[in-house]
Amino acid sequence: MCNHHRNPLHCIMPPYMTDKLNDLLGVPEKEQDNDNFFRNKRSALAAMPRPKNQEVFRIAAKVSKTRLYREVYDAHQGPRTIGGLVWKEGQQSVPDDADVKNVIEGAGNVWSFYKRLFKRNSIDNKGMAIIQTVRFREMPLKPFFNAFWDGEQMFYGTGMPQYTNSFTSDLDIIAHELTHGIIDHECAFAYENQSGALNESFADVFGILVKQWTNKTAARDSDWLIGSNILKGKNALRSMAAPGTAYKSDPVYGNDPQPAHMKQFVQLPNTEAGDNGGVHYNSGIPNHAFYIAAVEMGGNAWETIGPVWYAAMTDQKAVKKNTDFAKLAAVTIKKSATLFGKGSLVEKAVARGWKDTGVI
Ligand SMILES: [Zn+2]
Repeated sequence: MCNHHRNPLHCIMPPYMTDKLNDLLGVPEKEQDNDNFFRNKRSALAAMPRPKNQEVFRIAAKVSKTRLYREVYDAHQGPRTIGGLVWKEGQQSVPDDADVKNVIEGAGNVWSFYKRLFKRNSIDNKGMAIIQTVRFREMPLKPFFNAFWDGEQMFYGTGMPQYTNSFTSDLDIIAHELTHGIIDHECAFAYENQSGALNESFADVFGILVKQWTNKTAARDSDWLIGSNILKGKNALRSMAAPGTAYKSDPVYGNDPQPAHMKQFVQLPNTEAGDNGGVHYNSGIPNHAFYIAAVEMGGNAWETIGPVWYAAMTDQKAVKKNTDFAKLAAVTIKKSATLFGKGSLVEKAVARGWKDTGVI
């Protein structure tokens, strides 16, 4: 359900991984049919009746204009229509529950990151309330291995203890998903081919930046891993330092298929089965370009290359929905010169990132 072509739900776990989990668990054909049913809808969740928490959401969106405002719902391992409010901003008692605590704290860190560094007022820059639902499942009997942004709010599954930890376990994943919301309100990269890979890459870049900023980790000390707490052992979903090495010979997932260089660019059809033209594969290339630039600069990435990427993401004249890698490279080099000066170390580092990945 996560990679619908026209109105994607932005899921953290790519289809090339969730399909393997479903195969392994032998998800009954009936439920796979349900999956197809959902996939053929314009959007699985948009097709459901609007639930109570969405009404609350609209009210919350009205009341929150200048401050951080969060609400958390518990879907109790069902679809969101079952969810009930368990915490809202200002409520002193926080439920003794790891998922609830993770998403309250995580969304708070994401909000503060954007506010303090970029004076951004929440996802839409107009004070949008941050609504999150934990313990979500599409179907009550089927474990849900994902977290996603649906255009209005966040949903998190708990996964399955043998294979994953809860999808609230990584701050970079919470930041990745909320950044998809910001992208929707800014450059709105079309979710296909190179622009779709840039959509995914910007979400990873700000995912790792929020983690580094929160933990005060310098670029050269970061693990540059996305989703390192969700998967068991040393595995992560993606590696920005070395795309293609986040997992190797894994009994469930096999080998990480992400390329790090244009020479390995993955050509896939622009279909659901083709990951909309490989958006979760080829994001490895711009991810790696960002990593190279940030490590070349040293210091804190949120003070060097991060502002360049934020300036690009929020310049709707320079970056458009069909912007490709080469065009983004040109925009970020120009932004580096504007922010840090022509011939600056930042400008050189950004150019080096794009050159070393074969984009320019
Ligand atoms: Zn994503």
